Amino acid sequence: MPKLRQELDSDERNFGSGWISGFLALALAILGFGTVLCFCFPELLTVADAREAYASNLSVIRAALLLVLIAAFCLGIVSTALRKNRILGFTALALVLAASLMGGHHATARSSVESPVFLGLDFFLLNLILLGAVFIPIERLFKKNDQAILRYEWREDLLYFLISTLFVQTLSYISLNPSLALVSATAGIDNVRAALASQPYWLQFFEIMFLTDLVQYWFHRTFHKIPWLWKFHAVHHSAQAMDWLAGSRMHLFEVIMLRAFTTLPMYVLGFAEAPLYAYIFFVYLMSVFIHANLRLPLGWLQYVIATPRFHHWHHGLEEEAIDVNFAIHFPIIDMAFGTFHMPGDRWPEGYGVGGHPVPKGFFRQFLYPFRKDKPTGPESVDQQA
Ligand SMILES: [Zn+2]
Ligand SMILES: [Zn+2]
Repeated sequence: MPKLRQELDSDERNFGSGWISGFLALALAILGFGTVLCFCFPELLTVADAREAYASNLSVIRAALLLVLIAAFCLGIVSTALRKNRILGFTALALVLAASLMGGHHATARSSVESPVFLGLDFFLLNLILLGAVFIPIERLFKKNDQAILRYEWREDLLYFLISTLFVQTLSYISLNPSLALVSATAGIDNVRAALASQPYWLQFFEIMFLTDLVQYWFHRTFHKIPWLWKFHAVHHSAQAMDWLAGSRMHLFEVIMLRAFTTLPMYVLGFAEAPLYAYIFFVYLMSVFIHANLRLPLGWLQYVIATPRFHHWHHGLEEEAIDVNFAIHFPIIDMAFGTFHMPGDRWPEGYGVGGHPVPKGFFRQFLYPFRKDKPTGPESVDQQA
């Protein structure tokens, strides 16, 4: 593993060195192997609600899987032929071989165990392909910072992305389950619920967007203000390179709290399911977008809706970037509470927490808020937030 990691970080990545073919081979092999795993253990590794859609597009998925495995194999061969260090190519070929031995594009379910609990491996793979396909080319075209696709700490952020998508069921259960209890406990506002749910869907969507951002603003500001909460949130701010993957870096405790605090009130208020689910999808895309390494010519629109420059200032290292731009949709909320900051056409010089006190790596970052030996307190929040 350390050797593979070294090769992934190798400086020798130029065209013809076998690195590009090796990396692509490995990425495709992981995609192919992951998909075969989903075919073998659908009950455990795929999102229950998506299984019907997969079943009706089975032949397309199997044909795509075959293409992915063939491409991974060919690129793996090219890489091993071109590169002295063959670990990228060999690992890719080993994964293709393993996927083939498990049935390849003909793979079928290996157990009939029924499970109410699943991991969203399919959700991870699909999200990565779709978001990557959209954001990687746009970031190349409109990049703010000239950084490699595999920029500083990309593996750490990918691990955050993997974990938050794998545990999609647990995370949505946590925010949905208490809401059912709350809805029945607040039967007194049934007429409010009926009135809200009877509005046109586009209006409900807009109301959910505004109300959630308002709740999120104060939730977020509280995490900056209270020292022990800041230690959780500092993990999100520890990213020193911004792009579409950077927003995934968030402590699990904060993810759970954020989901509970922002989705619960919307369920309790009784908004219809269609605009609520549309919003959950939208906010996911929005959080990817505002972290993206994108300089877009948006003009006045950047004062109406949150953009990468708006949120990048929130992550800025400079003194002027401390405790500004907490909203994730409407800059007007920051304007109203005196925390709006978008100086001219400038961008922050760097990103992260001053002094970089947050350790590197998922597990050390997970434990960071629970460690007592770290200097913290209102002073450090003021200095670093
Ligand atoms: Zn923040
Ligand atoms: Zn952020």
